[in-house]
Amino acid sequence: MQEPFFGQIDPPQRLLMGPGPVNVHPRVLRAMSADMLGQFDPEMTEYMNQTMALYRQVFMTSNRWTFLIDGTARAGIEAAMVSLVEPGARILIVRAGRFGLLLSEIAERIGADVRTLDLEWGEVATPEAIEAAIVAHRPAVFACIHGDTSTTMAQPLEGVGEICRKHGVLSYVDATATLGGMAVDVDGWGVDVVTGGLQKCMGGPPGSSPITISDCAAEHIFRRRHVESGIRAADATDGIGARIGSNYFDLAMVMDYWSEKRLNHHTEATTMLYGARECARVMLEEGLATRFARHRAASAAVTAGLRAMGLNVFGQDAFRMTNVTGVWIPEGVNGDAVRARMREDFEIEIGTAFGPLAGRIWRIGAMGYNAMKHKVLHTIGALDTVLAGQGYAVRRGEGVDAALAAWNATLQDAA
Ligand SMILES: *Cc1c(COP(=O)(O)O)cnc(C)c1O
Repeated sequence: MQEPFFGQIDPPQRLLMGPGPVNVHPRVLRAMSADMLGQFDPEMTEYMNQTMALYRQVFMTSNRWTFLIDGTARAGIEAAMVSLVEPGARILIVRAGRFGLLLSEIAERIGADVRTLDLEWGEVATPEAIEAAIVAHRPAVFACIHGDTSTTMAQPLEGVGEICRKHGVLSYVDATATLGGMAVDVDGWGVDVVTGGLQKCMGGPPGSSPITISDCAAEHIFRRRHVESGIRAADATDGIGARIGSNYFDLAMVMDYWSEKRLNHHTEATTMLYGARECARVMLEEGLATRFARHRAASAAVTAGLRAMGLNVFGQDAFRMTNVTGVWIPEGVNGDAVRARMREDFEIEIGTAFGPLAGRIWRIGAMGYNAMKHKVLHTIGALDTVLAGQGYAVRRGEGVDAALAAWNATLQDAA
């Protein structure tokens, strides 16, 4: 019998205008083709230190503990949760979409006492509601999502760190979808732990999760470091806390590896580190303000284009993520058929949706390397043609003009 054999990887040139992953910046791909180094080679440890310094700027923080978790964004989430939250400890989670639900699922697996602030998909929590829930539940940890791609809304976080600190609560924020596209103002927000990913607005591939940790949270985590002589009981009463229930995601061990101690833990994923480092370099070279304005222009162009075509944009303008836009699938239009035509005729991917929004909205992303004028215009133009082919022909041809005008107007305002 003939053994199976397959050709070289040669993917079609798709334009990825969904909620991620997105097309990777060519400089990042080039960086990732560089050769390996030994993990304790001085060149390698210097690259690690440089990556920490670059990501402090990306996260707008002076946190010493700013580094990478090897794995997709969910690895950063899991590392933060398992290291911050002890079995039996109380955690308060804002749930307004798919990723809030993920946080509570992870917390349940840890064996935490999970309390939630539940909102309709598309809503965001006010600072007053967050404080009231903290007062009511008295959690040890507060957790929420910055931009929940499932709803395309961004949770405002100004003042939230202060509220948490006032009540002695450690805070965690998942900023996977917004890092690199909107301000993830870690020190300004005053939150303790924030994680991200590369495959959204950082313009990289999935597989590395930048994380930043305040000194206060790091102290809490180091206190949970298991003693060398053996395993601690989860119910130890000396205030040191329970051992972190994961080896790979034990942030105390991972911090020892990234510190001058260089205590061996995993082997840092060399290629992903090269890629993450280049993502940050591309971002910082562009400048944070310029980059955020470019994402705002893309978002304004997408929403203006969709509205000019007669479509209804999902959610509240005041809380819109500037890198992914939800749009209601019009009555009588087959959402999956439209996505298939976009892909097959135009090589463009747009996103579907989850949970209560499944089959009801599309999600159109313009993130990182794809938050570009021509890519947005191609997408809106293609959607116009595809919708017409599906018998939906309200205001044909107006989308692209409106998108272009909105792009230019937004960047003029920013200048
Ligand atoms: C995309 C996304 C993730 C995904 O994590 P991966 O493990 O990289 O798939 C997590 N959180 C949010 C808010 C996201 O938008």
